[in-house]
Amino acid sequence: MDQDRRQHELARRLGELGFALPGTITERTKTCGKPTCRCRDDIDQRHGPYIQWTRTENGKTVTRQLTRDQLGRYQPWFDNTRRLRELTEQLHTVSIEAIIAAEGWGAES
Ligand SMILES: [Zn+2]
Repeated sequence: MDQDRRQHELARRLGELGFALPGTITERTKTCGKPTCRCRDDIDQRHGPYIQWTRTENGKTVTRQLTRDQLGRYQPWFDNTRRLRELTEQLHTVSIEAIIAAEGWGAES
C-alpha cells in the first residue's frame, strides 16, 4: 500500500532528525536605565542587539541570551523543530489516508 511506503519514508526522516530545540528566537535592543546614557533618548543608540531564546517549561517562560556564535551553532536544532512539525503533519495526513483506505470509508465528505 502506498501509505505504508510513505509512512516508512517519514519514519526514516524522523529517525535522522537529530536534536530539536523548542521556543522562539528574538533579537532586541535594550536601554540600560542609566539616566545619562545615550541609549535613553535615541533608539539607534540602544544596547545590543541581544539574541533571546524564549521557551515554555512547565507553564513558565524561560529566557536565555545567546551569542551570535551560539545561535549559529544551534540554528540547525531550531530548524529541526520546524522540520519535526512538518513531518508530524505529513504523518497525520498519510495516517488518515491509511485508515480511510483500510476501512473502505471512501472519500471524506
Ligand atoms: Zn545605556
